[in-house]
Amino acid sequence: MVNLTPLFRHVEENRDKYLEYAKRLITVPSVSTYGSGLEECADLVAEMLENHGFRVERFSNPEGGGPMLLGTMNYEAHATLMFYNHYDVQPAEPLEKWTTPPFTPAVRNGKLFGRGAADNKGNIAARLAAVEAILSTLGEMPVNLKFLIEGGEEVGSPGLEKFVRENRDKLFADGCIWEYGYVSRSGSPVIYLGQKGMLYVELEKEGPASDLHSSWGAVVENPAWRLVQALSTMRGPDGRVTIEGFYDDVVYEGEELLEKLDIAEFSPPHKLLKTAEQNPLRQLFLEPTINLNGLYAGYIGPGSKTIIPSKASAKLDIRLVPRQNPEKIKQLLLQHLEKNGATDIKLHIHQAYPAARTSPDNFLPKLVADTAATAYGKSPIIIPSGAASGPMYVITEILETPCVSTGCGYHGSSPHGPDENIRLTDFTANIKHIALIMLNFKNYLYTG
Ligand SMILES: [Zn+2]
Repeated sequence: MVNLTPLFRHVEENRDKYLEYAKRLITVPSVSTYGSGLEECADLVAEMLENHGFRVERFSNPEGGGPMLLGTMNYEAHATLMFYNHYDVQPAEPLEKWTTPPFTPAVRNGKLFGRGAADNKGNIAARLAAVEAILSTLGEMPVNLKFLIEGGEEVGSPGLEKFVRENRDKLFADGCIWEYGYVSRSGSPVIYLGQKGMLYVELEKEGPASDLHSSWGAVVENPAWRLVQALSTMRGPDGRVTIEGFYDDVVYEGEELLEKLDIAEFSPPHKLLKTAEQNPLRQLFLEPTINLNGLYAGYIGPGSKTIIPSKASAKLDIRLVPRQNPEKIKQLLLQHLEKNGATDIKLHIHQAYPAARTSPDNFLPKLVADTAATAYGKSPIIIPSGAASGPMYVITEILETPCVSTGCGYHGSSPHGPDENIRLTDFTANIKHIALIMLNFKNYLYTG
């Protein structure tokens, strides 16, 4: 093991320079929802990668989102570590909720504020800083590096799957560090070994050609009633999904990691389901869900209006866990509608992708956890799979590469919200953490 003191001191002494990387990125309003600032931000990221010694390839993305960037640094190290990030951000609205303007980075009270500070520009900055710190203090990088940085994550990563499928060889790596992570309320770095998948569906029931006088309700079928009756067959009041076979493929790998944790650590923002009180973390992280996002039918304006609506629809997100196949779940849903005599309800698929998870026994989780303890001075919380969904499956399922997520945020980072921020102490701890991952990657890969 190399003496870490010079490296850590270098990180501390150069914090403001590294912070400048994040500030420059935040200044470009690369909002993928509006398609604005993406080319400009891709230019900036490419320039920053090149300044750190990377060879950069740029791929336009005809499916939407900004260009994909692939930065490579080859040290003939017989071990390749990839990082996944995105340079696009969520819209900053409502602007009046920001203390200082979202695209004008500002440091106050030991925190850096700005849209993208935590998600995901601060992480790009921290990772480049780790490269700089290693090269400056040790003179060489003991691992080959690849940075895959996309510009459409906040709009569902259009084109990412296709890009990864078409560039499997270029994207070869022995392990990948995903984009985010944070420090919990109790001060422990939180590391994710996976993400849920997603089947986003819209159910639609057509009724009369246009809204009818509701006196016809005595004899004419109302699509809103049809829809809510069908929905009520899919999930019990206890939160369990009642579609036959829905839980068949669920496995609870990594469950033991949750035993020492308390749900309070994750600060649930609202009261829990009565039935979740027993084992909320198991439900949150390891089980699939069906969530009703929106229902639309008929008159929802002020006062009263008496109609039979012409149409009713519902949007549902089904968060999938590893081994649940999105196509199979879609078929189960169709069978369920059929069994309940609801084949008149149409199903549209908006998104469908599987979950991702890396086994806790793989070398990469061990590496990320051990080095987190050194960098943060506190042992990490390891979550077998995040509760949220994302495209990590392109790494674990398509490239068949282990993947773990860690990053520079904290519990109060407010990603996607107003006053998004990171703490400067977490930023430097994360730079050290990423540097240690780079330095120890090869050892862990070969000795497991
Ligand atoms: Zn993100």
